[in-house]
Amino acid sequence: MGSSAVVVGGGIGGLAAALGLRRIGWEVTVVERAAVLDDAGAGISLHANGLRALDVLGVGEAVRDAARPQYTGGTRTPRGARLAAMDGAALERVLGTPIVGIPRATLHRLLRDALPPESLVIGTEVTAVDRSAPGRVRVPLGDTVLDADLVVAADGVNSRMRTLLFPSHPGPSYSGSTVLRAVTEHPVDAGTDFELTWGPGAEFGHIAFDDGRAEWHAVLNSPAGVRYPDPPAEMRRRFAGWHDPIPALLDATRPEAVLHHDIYELVAALPTYTVGRVALLGDAAHAMTPNLGQGACQALEDAAVLAAALAGEATVEAALARYDTQRRPRSQSVARAARQAGRMGQQLTNPLAIGLRNTALRLAPSGMTVRAILRHADWTPPLPELPSSPESHGA
Ligand code: FAD
Repeated sequence: MGSSAVVVGGGIGGLAAALGLRRIGWEVTVVERAAVLDDAGAGISLHANGLRALDVLGVGEAVRDAARPQYTGGTRTPRGARLAAMDGAALERVLGTPIVGIPRATLHRLLRDALPPESLVIGTEVTAVDRSAPGRVRVPLGDTVLDADLVVAADGVNSRMRTLLFPSHPGPSYSGSTVLRAVTEHPVDAGTDFELTWGPGAEFGHIAFDDGRAEWHAVLNSPAGVRYPDPPAEMRRRFAGWHDPIPALLDATRPEAVLHHDIYELVAALPTYTVGRVALLGDAAHAMTPNLGQGACQALEDAAVLAAALAGEATVEAALARYDTQRRPRSQSVARAARQAGRMGQQLTNPLAIGLRNTALRLAPSGMTVRAILRHADWTPPLPELPSSPESHGA
């Protein structure tokens, strides 16, 4: 079994993959095209499955320490009427943890800090992968070539590696929704740990952080490419009259802090996550809409499973076959569920359909929200257990 890997992409998925590989004693180089290694996003929720993956990758405790547990909140109408309640205590009883919220920048830093700086090559774009030599895979980088036993393609929703490996795949599709989001400049009383508010064709949500600040996001049905000259002003106009703390969150935001992205997903599911000695991971393999808060959690699962498969199988080929079997059906089913959640949630515009949905949510027995979350969050990392530190493997 070989022991060197190149990870293409230094996002949450790529860094997690590198951590898993180092745990089992592999040498890893992460190649990231951005000149600064960071995550340009606002905040993120991590479910039990993502946290369990982080535990086996060795950073679960650090992430929990920096995160805020989500005990309160849920889903509301624009006037503030409660549709469904978040029961973090019930999730904690069943799963051992509620969902937690954390600034993306913090999560990214914690993953990065757990890797030796020399394993990170930044400001370098991977444009090709050479699979011609038997048992090897090579990544040309300018004048040098990285020669490895495995390449992990973690280069995101617009993955170049995926295009190289699956030239006839149609690529990502526009979901019909665009998202504006930001972290407030200062602490703000968000009232609850986590909230989603659904109006016709629009969702406003927040994740409160440990330090009192909060991220907010506004997801809108919209053609791709629409941009606003003054995003906070547009959000104040769009969400005028919506319940507290929405106005306070918008008022606590610097205009230049607002990020705006169109949401793309892989509707055409990949037939395999591995080609030769290249494994696709994270959004490169299964980009999904954010409606279940599971995209990064699935990337973290990928990383934990990949490392366990390589530790448990005699050859890279057998390990990659196991990775594909254990990851593809699950992540693709979560992606389908996320798409469906978006259609029944923020994307609904028909007043009759909205009324029926809201009535169904109000009448649903308590515990239904918890069961819906458990469907995806109740995941356990596979065996073999990863060594507790890279050193304990002799790396
Ligand atoms: P990315 O984060 O896209 O990282 C890919 C990296 O590869 C980038 O750094 C990029 O610069 C680099 N790269 C690309 N091409 C190359 C190349 N050729 N050479 C070198 N480097 C390259 N998930 C959750 O679990 N919980 C949530 O609450 C949640 N909320 C979300 C909210 C929104 C609005 C959105 C859009 C997504 C949300 N997600 C959430 C999903 C989550 O953000 C993604 O699934 C996750 O960030 C994917 O990580 P990744 O590492 O696979 O891809």
